Amino acid sequence: MSHSKQQKETKIEHDRENCIGCTSCAAIHPKSWKMNEDGKADFIGEEDNFELDMEAAQSCPVNVIHVIKKDKKLI
Ligand code: SF4
Repeated sequence: MSHSKQQKETKIEHDRENCIGCTSCAAIHPKSWKMNEDGKADFIGEEDNFELDMEAAQSCPVNVIHVIKKDKKLI
């Protein structure tokens, strides 16, 4: 199942099913990503920070975080 949340013009998509729980996204952008007790990350999106969104997505070893800006998929 895919989770997404609208953040102004930037949209984050998380293929949570395939998250391996490495904690990288939560370490880089803790206001957007939080580790769940089931071992996977949850997108909480408390801060709209494009740079950190991109960094978190780029850090994901299994590429399950996607950043879409103005309908264009950046990662
Ligand atoms: S970086 Fe990717 S694999 Fe690691 S916890 Fe975040 S979403 Fe899951």
